[in-house]
Amino acid sequence: MLIEAGSTRLLVDAGLPLATLQRQLTRAHLSVKPNAIIVTHAHGDHCRHAAELSEHFQAPLYVSEATRRSVRLGGRRTPRVFGPRAPFSIGDIAVTALTVPHDAPQVSLRFEHGGEAAAIATDLGEVPPGLLDHLAGCDTVLIESNHDHEMLWSGPYPYHLKRRVSGGHGHLSNAQTHGLLRSLDRGVRTVVLMHLSQTNNTPELARASAAEALCDHPATLLVSSQFGVTSLGAEPVGPPQLELFSR
Ligand SMILES: [Zn+2]
Ligand SMILES: [Zn+2]
Repeated sequence: MLIEAGSTRLLVDAGLPLATLQRQLTRAHLSVKPNAIIVTHAHGDHCRHAAELSEHFQAPLYVSEATRRSVRLGGRRTPRVFGPRAPFSIGDIAVTALTVPHDAPQVSLRFEHGGEAAAIATDLGEVPPGLLDHLAGCDTVLIESNHDHEMLWSGPYPYHLKRRVSGGHGHLSNAQTHGLLRSLDRGVRTVVLMHLSQTNNTPELARASAAEALCDHPATLLVSSQFGVTSLGAEPVGPPQLELFSR
């Protein structure tokens, strides 16, 4: 995900190699250089290319203390470490991290600038106390809707992986995301579903579940794709303030 606010551009997670990232940026009509890269946790789909991207963009890496301890990111730059709950600034963007349960230390990140806010919460096994407050007042919320319970348990994953994905330190199912969205702050204007499993979910199932949860909520609902670009421009003219993409 790429977030732009003021004169700051943050790349959130670094699972894509440079060439793929640049192809995606071109498709989104962006020719940008992130000022910083934040890695949420030590799983390859989020951190594998952190050193490469940090070197290429000459951008510092930010990680939590727990992530710094659990993975060698490589590269010549020493990562900058942030703590949960203590807000910190990267350029023009204020960032707050909330610890969420996953099988690597993981955080949900909230970004604020000029009275607007966005938050991302992926890779969490259950909705922890404090997450709804963390998302409250956000214009945009990006939330995991990883798997459909039935598809996971009748699907091809081995038993231990099914238990891992559905466990309290795995990923949110469509039903769990439904439960969270039922209580979502009414000020949220856009909800983006992310981190959908290719094997254990479909965009249609995830969307239908979330749409039902948001039936009397005014937010716009989007479903991101691993292979496409999801862009959220704040205004129809001028440069978009917030652009996102996934693999
Ligand atoms: Zn992940
Ligand atoms: Zn993960």
